[in-house]
Amino acid sequence: MGSDCLFCRIVAGEIPATLVRETDTTLAFRDIDPKAPVHVLVIPKEHYADVATLAQGDPGLAADVLATSAAVAEDEGLLGDGFRLMFNTGTYGGQEVFHVHAHLLGGAPLGPMLARDLA
Ligand code: AMP
Repeated sequence: MGSDCLFCRIVAGEIPATLVRETDTTLAFRDIDPKAPVHVLVIPKEHYADVATLAQGDPGLAADVLATSAAVAEDEGLLGDGFRLMFNTGTYGGQEVFHVHAHLLGGAPLGPMLARDLA
């Protein structure tokens, strides 16, 4: 994808980010506008627009994103009290950056799953 994609530019080192973990295939960095005491984004280095195209296109890489998320959760001390791992997807999901990313949130009680009841 390259220069049009914000997170590809972070992978390329063209835009600074606070990295917390890097593997051959994934990168984890702190969200610039944190919504919880711990708010880390975990991405595959390779560009996929969202979690559905990632999971369908390269299930092994999707597993790498989960494994890195778990490792960061452990590093950040979240395994005991728990955390939330979230993939906003598409318009209804509120996705703003179209390079798949897991939001790893924790460090405090996170409240209800949705801001309002849609049922
Ligand atoms: P989403 O709405 O799921 O696409 O989330 C995009 C996330 O990327 C938001 O939580 C933003 O705060 C975050 N974000 C945007 N730009 C940056 C950046 N340069 N470094 C770190 N996080 C960013």
